[in-house]
Amino acid sequence: MLHLKSIELSGFKSFAKKSVLEFTTPVSAIVGPNGSGKSNVAEAFRFVLGEQSIKSMRGKKGEDLIFNGAGGESRANRAFVKVVFDNSNRLFSVDFPEVTIERVVHRDGVNEYLINGSQVRLRDVLELLARAHIGASGHHIISQGEADKILNASTRERKSMIEDALGLKLYQYKRAESEKKLEKTFENIQQVESLRKEIAPHIRFLKKQTEKIEKAESVRLELETLGQEYLRREEDYLNKERDLIHTEKKPILARLKVLDEELGNARKILENFGKKNKKDFEVLDIEAEIASARAEKDRLMRELGKVEGSVEAQERMLRSEKDRITNAEEKTVRLRDVEELQSDIEDEIKSAEGDSNNLIKVLYRVLDKISSFIKSKKVDTNSPGVKEVERALSELGKEKEKLEKELKRSDEREKSLREKYENLKKEIEKDKDTSHDAEKKVFTIMSEENELRSREESLRIREEQYKHLFENFKRDLEEISKIAGPSILGFRSVSVTHEDRSKQEDRRHDVERLKIRLEESGVSGAGDIMKEFKEVSERDEFLSRELLDLEKSAESLKTLIKELEERLNEEFKSGLEKINKEFNTLFTMMFGGGEAHLTLTKEKKRRIGDLEIEEGIDQEVGEEVIEEGLDIAVNLPRKKIRGLAMLSGGERALTSIALLFAITEVNPPPFIILDETDAALDEANSKKYGDIAERLSKRSQLILITHNRETMSRAGVIYGVTMSGTGVSKLLSIAFDQAVEVAK
Ligand code: ATP
Repeated sequence: MLHLKSIELSGFKSFAKKSVLEFTTPVSAIVGPNGSGKSNVAEAFRFVLGEQSIKSMRGKKGEDLIFNGAGGESRANRAFVKVVFDNSNRLFSVDFPEVTIERVVHRDGVNEYLINGSQVRLRDVLELLARAHIGASGHHIISQGEADKILNASTRERKSMIEDALGLKLYQYKRAESEKKLEKTFENIQQVESLRKEIAPHIRFLKKQTEKIEKAESVRLELETLGQEYLRREEDYLNKERDLIHTEKKPILARLKVLDEELGNARKILENFGKKNKKDFEVLDIEAEIASARAEKDRLMRELGKVEGSVEAQERMLRSEKDRITNAEEKTVRLRDVEELQSDIEDEIKSAEGDSNNLIKVLYRVLDKISSFIKSKKVDTNSPGVKEVERALSELGKEKEKLEKELKRSDEREKSLREKYENLKKEIEKDKDTSHDAEKKVFTIMSEENELRSREESLRIREEQYKHLFENFKRDLEEISKIAGPSILGFRSVSVTHEDRSKQEDRRHDVERLKIRLEESGVSGAGDIMKEFKEVSERDEFLSRELLDLEKSAESLKTLIKELEERLNEEFKSGLEKINKEFNTLFTMMFGGGEAHLTLTKEKKRRIGDLEIEEGIDQEVGEEVIEEGLDIAVNLPRKKIRGLAMLSGGERALTSIALLFAITEVNPPPFIILDETDAALDEANSKKYGDIAERLSKRSQLILITHNRETMSRAGVIYGVTMSGTGVSKLLSIAFDQAVEVAK
C-alpha cells in the first residue's frame, strides 16, 4: 500500500520553479551531485509536515526557505510545498480519498497551512498527521548526518525519540494537554476558592442578618395573625357596642322628648293655676260688688219707704184739704181779721181824700182788698194747697216709680253678681282639682325623667368608654399596621367565633408583647439585605457548583492522565520489547553476531524547567526529578567493546541504522526518508543496508537520498537533481544507469 503520492515544490530553497516528485513505487531514490538540492527535498517534507524549527531546515528564519534568486531567476515571494497522500484506506481520519497538505511561507514570515485546499491552523495539520503516525521531524525523516543522532542523543532524548517512533506522541500530546488543563483547572479552583473565601464573611454577615430578618418576619407574621384577630374582634365589639348604645339611647331620648313636652304642659297648667289669685281677687271684687249692690238696694228700699210715707202723708193732707174745702161755706172769719180789713180800707180812703179823680181808683183798690181778704179767708177747692199736694203726690209717684225701677235693677244686678260669684267659686274649685292633677303629673314625669336621665347618663358613660376604646382601636390599627405592615388592614376578612370578651384583653397584651419584640428584632434595609443575600448566596452557590465542576473535571483529568500514562507505559514497554528484539536481530545481522539492546534508565536529576543542572553545581537549585531514559548496550562479536563511544564511524552508522530500522519495523510510518544514511557503509554493509531497506519498504514507503549505487539499485523510481551552475535545482526522472552517472 502506497501512501505517499507526490510532493510539489515551488519557490522552496533551490527549487525556484514548480517541481513535482511522484512516488509510485515502494522505494524511490533521489540522486544528484553534491549541492544540487537533494536535501532540500527532504527538508521540503519537513516543511510541509509542519516543522517549526528553521534550523532543522538549515535556515535562520522563514525567509531563508524561499528561493532567493539565482542565475537568471529572480527570487520568489513565497515558498510553497504540497504533499499528496492516498487516503483510500483512511490513513487519515477524514472522509476523503486523497489528503493534500500545503504550506506556504511568505517573506514577512507569515505561514499558511491548508488541508485539502482549506486554510487551517498548524495545530490541525499536526493533529491530522499525528493520527496517521507522521511527525514533522520524527524518526521517519532522517536528515543527512543525522543517522547516528539517536546514538548521540541523551538517554532522555532517546527515550523521547523512541516514544515518538512508537506513536506515543499523540498520547503525550494529549497528556501534556490534559496536564495543562489540569493545571489551569487547579488555578481556577484556587481562584474560585479564594473568591468564595473572600465573600464568605460577607455571606456569614448577611446570613445572620437574614436570619434576624426571617425571625422578625415570623414575629411579624405572628403579629399579623394575632393583630388581625384582635382588630377584628375589637371592631366587632365596638360596632356592636355603638349600635347597642344607639338602640338603647333612641327610645330614652324619644321618651325624654315626650316627657319634656308633657312636663311643659303640666307646668303650664300649674302656671295657669298660679294665676288663681286673680280669680280670688275677682271673688273679692264680686263680693264687694255684691255688698255694694245690697247697700244700694237697702238705700233704695229705704228711700222707697220714705217716698211711700210721704205719699201717705200727702194723701192724708189731700184728704183733709178736700175735707176743708167741703167745709168752707160755713166758714167763720175772725173779728180781728175783719177789723184789720176795715183799717186797711180806711187807710186807703184816707190816702185818696182830696183827690176826687182817684175816688174810683180807690174804690177799685178797696174792692181788691176786700176781694183778696175774702179770697184769703175763703177755702178754695181749687185752692193752691190741694194742687200742690197733688203735684207733690204726682212727684212722689214718679219718684217711687223711679225708685222701684232702680230697686229692681239693683236686685237683678245683685242676683247676677251672686250667680257670677257662684260660678267663679265653682271654677276656682275646678282649677284646684286640675292643678292638683298637674302637680301629680309633674312629679311622676320628673321621677321618670330622673330615671331616664340616670339611664342616659350611664349610656353616656358607656359612650365615653366606647369613644375611648374606639380611639384606642384607631391607634392600635395605625401602630400595628406601621409595625407589621399594611397587610394588617385585611383584618376585616378574618373570621372569628364567639368568645368571652375578657380574652380580648389577654390578646391585647400579646399583641403589645409582639409589637415590642418585632420592634426590637428589626433590621433596617431588610429588602436590600435579603436581595443582596440572595444574590451573594446565588453567586456562592454558583461558585460552589463551579468548584464542584472544576473538581470533577480535575478528577476526570487526573484519571485521563493516569490512563494515558498507563497506556503510554504499557505501549512503551511492549514497543520497547519489540524494538529490542528487532534491534538485536538487525544488529546481529549487520555485524554477523554480537548483541544490542536498549535499557531503561532511571537517574536522579535536578532541573529548572527544561534546564538540567549538572551534578555538583548547586544542589539547592531546581527540582529533583527521577528521569527516565534509554541507554544503548552493544556487544560486538569478537570485540570487547564497552559503550558506544568506542565504536568506529561505520560501526556507529550500522548500529544506528539497525536501531532506526528496528524502530520503523515495530511501528512502521507510512513513509521513511533517509538522507544519505548509507554514506559511511562499505560495499558489504551497503548490500545489507539495501536488503533491510527492501524489507522495510514492504510496510513503509522509502525515499532514499543517496550516492550509493547499491542503494539506487533497489529503487523503482529514481529522480535526478541537478543544478549545473545556475543555482536552480532541476528535477528529472531517470533510469538506473543514468542515475549512476547523475550521482557522480
Ligand atoms: P550533498 O550531496 O552535498 O549533500 P545536496 O544535493 O544535498 O548536496 P543541498 O544541500 O540540498 O544539496 O542543496 C544545497 C543547495 O541549495 C546549495 O547550493 C544552496 O545554495 C541552495 N540553496 C539553499 N537555500 C537556497 C535558497 N533559499 N535559494 C536558492 N538556493 C538555495
